[in-house]
Amino acid sequence: MSLILTAHKMRIYPNNEQISIIETTFGAARRMFNSLHAQFEERSKMSTVERENHIYKNYTALKNEWDNENNWLENVASQALANVSLNYNKAWSNYKKNKKHYKIPTFKSKHIARKSYSLNRNNVKNDIYISKENNKLLKVPKLGFVRLSQKLRYKNYNLKKITISKSTTNNYYISILVAIDKKSLNHKGLKIKSNDKVGLDLGLIDYIVDSNGNKINNPKYLKKFEVKLAKEQKILSRRYEQAKKDGRLLSESKNYQKQRLKVAKIHEKIRNVRNDFLHKLTNTITNESQVVIVESLNVKGMMKNRNLSKHISDASWGEFVNQLEYKSERKERTFVKIDTFFPSSKMCSDCKEIHELTNDLSVREWQCPSCNSIHDRDVNAAINILNEGLTLI
Ligand SMILES: [Zn+2]
Repeated sequence: MSLILTAHKMRIYPNNEQISIIETTFGAARRMFNSLHAQFEERSKMSTVERENHIYKNYTALKNEWDNENNWLENVASQALANVSLNYNKAWSNYKKNKKHYKIPTFKSKHIARKSYSLNRNNVKNDIYISKENNKLLKVPKLGFVRLSQKLRYKNYNLKKITISKSTTNNYYISILVAIDKKSLNHKGLKIKSNDKVGLDLGLIDYIVDSNGNKINNPKYLKKFEVKLAKEQKILSRRYEQAKKDGRLLSESKNYQKQRLKVAKIHEKIRNVRNDFLHKLTNTITNESQVVIVESLNVKGMMKNRNLSKHISDASWGEFVNQLEYKSERKERTFVKIDTFFPSSKMCSDCKEIHELTNDLSVREWQCPSCNSIHDRDVNAAINILNEGLTLI
């Protein structure tokens, strides 16, 4: 049995009482983080002798101190605070390991910091579980049963950990981490033994084009949201300018804040639509083909072309390739990434001659001067990617 860890993130709909407990826990988690960091700052200013005599308060000591205040921690799961302490230490060790990639821990501001807390399931107590009567209810310590927006997508899992968070649009989310046998993952529509092999070209006009000539586009409603986003963002920057002109703080400008929320909501919608699209697409591809071949991304090189950069960041190809890779692994498919420098669009897939006439990105269809085959630019590239990938297996 080979176990993997995987998570399902979805919205939750807490009632008012639960919201109040969640918010208190966010606050306590932030305060714990800041208290731990304050001690660090304090100690860094001390002399060696002072430091030796100083008692560092760990999260339990801090918690007990606060508990005496007025029992405000009554409804806060202590595991949430223990995890803050773990995360704080991890932030330091990450930073020490890789100073370029990780930032030094700093105080968490009430307004800017992401609000979240996590709880590990206690195996003995089984304190986090899905209701047997209703598969959209999750039992969470201190909260009771919380309503989920969808049912958990796994069967025969071992629930490990949950993370509750709040988006900038004031919606609540949960990420449910489970350990699961790779083989028991429910792959709807999986062709167990497929002979199909597919090469994928990450297209400029279509989202992807495959070596069988299929072209898959971004969902149409995504475009609609993008148009709306552009419009609302323009209004937002007007309000920003107005507040600046009037000498008002942004936090005090009601119109600006209202618009900011509106823009954040559209961003959230786009993210959700896109995630859904990517998951469905990568599921279909890895369900149907035994071998999946893509070109590794050279995003940096492409970003230099200003006209393309919007397309590329929008198209979220990094996430697409990442999903293809881990889903291929789970379904025991062969996944191959081929070198960026392979001339997939310049080569004629029939006679293998390389022609520079396709350097111009506006050339969508071309005829090979050597063998006279007529090619669709992207399908030809996808076929080349497939053939090149097959030589690497
Ligand atoms: Zn040719």
